Amino acid sequence: MNIVALEPESVRTRPPSWQAIVKSAIRDSGQLLQRLDLAGHLPGSPTEEKNFPTFVPETWLRRIQPGDPQDPLLLQVLPRLAEDAVVPGFVTDAVGDLEAEQAPGLIQKYHGRALLITSGACAVHCRYCFRRHYPYGQAPVSMPQFDDALEVVRQDTQIDEVILSGGDPLMMVDNKLQQLIEMIEAIEHVRRLRIHTRLPVLIPQRVTSGLVGMLKKTRLAKIVVLHINHPQEIDADVRQAMLQLVECHALLLNQAVLLKGVNDDLETLITLSKQLVDSHCQPYYLHQLDRVAGVAHFEVPEAEGCKLIEQMRGRLPGYAVPRYVRESPGESSKTVIV
Ligand SMILES: *Cc1c(COP(=O)(O)O)cnc(C)c1O
Ligand code: SF4
Repeated sequence: MNIVALEPESVRTRPPSWQAIVKSAIRDSGQLLQRLDLAGHLPGSPTEEKNFPTFVPETWLRRIQPGDPQDPLLLQVLPRLAEDAVVPGFVTDAVGDLEAEQAPGLIQKYHGRALLITSGACAVHCRYCFRRHYPYGQAPVSMPQFDDALEVVRQDTQIDEVILSGGDPLMMVDNKLQQLIEMIEAIEHVRRLRIHTRLPVLIPQRVTSGLVGMLKKTRLAKIVVLHINHPQEIDADVRQAMLQLVECHALLLNQAVLLKGVNDDLETLITLSKQLVDSHCQPYYLHQLDRVAGVAHFEVPEAEGCKLIEQMRGRLPGYAVPRYVRESPGESSKTVIV
């Protein structure tokens, strides 16, 4: 008799899927501020919000301190008027991605590694994003289009690593991702699969048993590069997702971007490094901000970045200090600043 009454209850308490969390994300800066008890606290929204709208999932919102307009997680996602400022030197294609495109969606800048743009979508819109002006409309979306892009890799036996990037490659649903991985595996000279993603951090529920299964199964060595800028981004669910990735025998790395007001502070960077290492994730790169139009207010001078890294060296084991790098168009690798 009770079964009928119990069933809806169990449906209601089932945790939402990652797709449901994406669907219910906040898409309006006014609503975002309201949810954080900050309505009326900040001046209006920039015109840029129309081109690159607010996009914040609940799983990120929960980690923001309500009532704090300077919260480091809020600053990463809240459109601010400064985005409309035209600042000399800040341009739409700051890193020369378009020039390095070998086929639609396939970017090769560096020896042996090719980067595939797998999705124009992300689980969040980071206001400092270097690809915010990238023409995703022209990137491949269907399997035949990916197949065409991968022809470049098939023809060049020197490419032994394929990097899935975006947008966020984990925005692809599991069975599509599985097909893409199989396509890459079929290229004999490719030995490594790298996934650049922010999803396990934004929505840890994305690390599904399906994803874990396909990563365990592939013959390719796996490198997962996360993007975490601040220790407050790492909650218990994120830690769990990181451990699940490590259990797939993925090499787990992190890249952060040095951002004014968010993580340009020694104690913050040290705590971040320690928390990453404690979750088996190695701090890989600390990026100097790419000079993309609309992000100038996030820039930290390189001299300050160098000082922070040197101070980190005095406090942390060598493996916990990231390489401080900058991306300059036309170079044969990222440029190590210090
Ligand atoms: C950053 C980047 C890579 C990866 O560089 P690593 O130094 O190997 O991490 C590869 N291709 C492109 C186009 C990149 O921008
Ligand atoms: S997740 Fe990466 S690609 Fe997506 S908006 Fe953020 S920085 Fe840009």
